[in-house]
Amino acid sequence: MCLQLSRTCSCGRHSAFLNFRDNLLPPEMLLGLYCPECRRRADFSENTVEDCGWVLEYDLEGARAILAQRGVRGEVTAAFLLEEGYLSWQGLSPGDHAVNAELHHRLAPLVDQDMKQYLQCLKEEWLAYVARLKAEGWRKAQRT
Ligand SMILES: [Zn+2]
Repeated sequence: MCLQLSRTCSCGRHSAFLNFRDNLLPPEMLLGLYCPECRRRADFSENTVEDCGWVLEYDLEGARAILAQRGVRGEVTAAFLLEEGYLSWQGLSPGDHAVNAELHHRLAPLVDQDMKQYLQCLKEEWLAYVARLKAEGWRKAQRT
């Protein structure tokens, strides 16, 4: 099971659900989270990675030490932590959680009427959403 929690960005206007692959990294390894509205506050360096206007700042040194200890291979960069899901969005973007909840809520009336159609709609709408994320350039969506 992966630990999940939500983190509010620096300006407090937005939040994102986070995912910790294999629970290797503690939440403290994410030093800062900036939404497109507060990204100017970010201190850009090798510790940061951008994803469609959002900026994540890691304790890269700390993360490298932990992952090396746990036998994770590969060059650990900020982009690696995000794209490989070690400390990343839950799903493909910070908005996934809300979109998923909205979709289930909107299609809920179909459950009683036509289960097959419900599942079909759910799948189609979700795939369309993922295609949109991919087109927008979200990093994790590029791998779907
Ligand atoms: Zn913000």
